[in-house]
Amino acid sequence: MKTDKKIYLSIIAILIVVSGILSVFLIQSNNRNQELQAQIITKDQMVYENLKGATAWQMSAEAQGLMLQAFEVAKNKLDDAIAKNGGTGDGLAIITDVDDTLVDGAHYTTDMMLGGKRDNVHFARFLMTDACNVLPGALDFLNYAKENGVEIFYVTNRSEKGYKSTDEGYQNKNGYDENWDSLTDDLGISMYDISLKQLKYLEFPYADEEHLIVNKPVKSSPKSKESARQSIIAKGFQIAMLLGDDINDFTDDFEKEAVTRAKQATDAPYKDKWGTEWIILPNAVYGSWYNAIAEKNYSSVFESNRYTDYPVLWDVFQSKHK
Ligand SMILES: [Mg+2]
Repeated sequence: MKTDKKIYLSIIAILIVVSGILSVFLIQSNNRNQELQAQIITKDQMVYENLKGATAWQMSAEAQGLMLQAFEVAKNKLDDAIAKNGGTGDGLAIITDVDDTLVDGAHYTTDMMLGGKRDNVHFARFLMTDACNVLPGALDFLNYAKENGVEIFYVTNRSEKGYKSTDEGYQNKNGYDENWDSLTDDLGISMYDISLKQLKYLEFPYADEEHLIVNKPVKSSPKSKESARQSIIAKGFQIAMLLGDDINDFTDDFEKEAVTRAKQATDAPYKDKWGTEWIILPNAVYGSWYNAIAEKNYSSVFESNRYTDYPVLWDVFQSKHK
């Protein structure tokens, strides 16, 4: 009997030790899972918080000042180009991007942060609201160019099809696909007609079919505006300057990788173009720069609706549009 009792006690002792080891292992494993979970949430939140800061900055006094500064530089350089052209604007052209170069897109991002969707239909609807207004200095500069005989061409990458990435089945498929629904299918009006109506409504000069190019993206090079630029040169115009908020508005020559492209911007032959042939508007919210550094694409930031309480941004939005 004594031997049996010893065996029982030994078994119980072994079980206690084993369960103790298992408990420690399970607690550690659980802690690791919680740590991993915390890292994932923190990362998403960080990306979102960065975007929130960028959007608030885009609406700031500093950003508005930079926009006015850009158009003031553009005006001075246009004077130089006209002087070089024999004191006339005849034959000179300005090629300008539209979104976040001439009109405000920050409020579209604000709307997404408040739970709005990111897709072409919602973007098109935004374009038809007064939230998408003229950026400071843009209209004055372009009217000045027209008064001096310089023609203006609007080249935008707004897409008839595309940006379906937060729709069911389109996650992470950023950009453009021939097989996707067109805006005309969804809204009964094309992106071209919306853009033309908007330019006219905002009283931009040269708001007509001859001067508006809504770029048709191709899969091999969805962001390229080079063919549009070449088509304007082929009409016999000399390009006085390009205006944009993204390197794609100026050239296709930059590398995608972030460090290399930043160096390209400050090296010859590009460094002398800024403020002379190229007038850039500040955009901290989005752009090809983001795709160059982001692990996730821009749209995926909006796939979670966990962070929808943004009283500060909402206050900015309301104060600007009441
Ligand atoms: Mg733009």
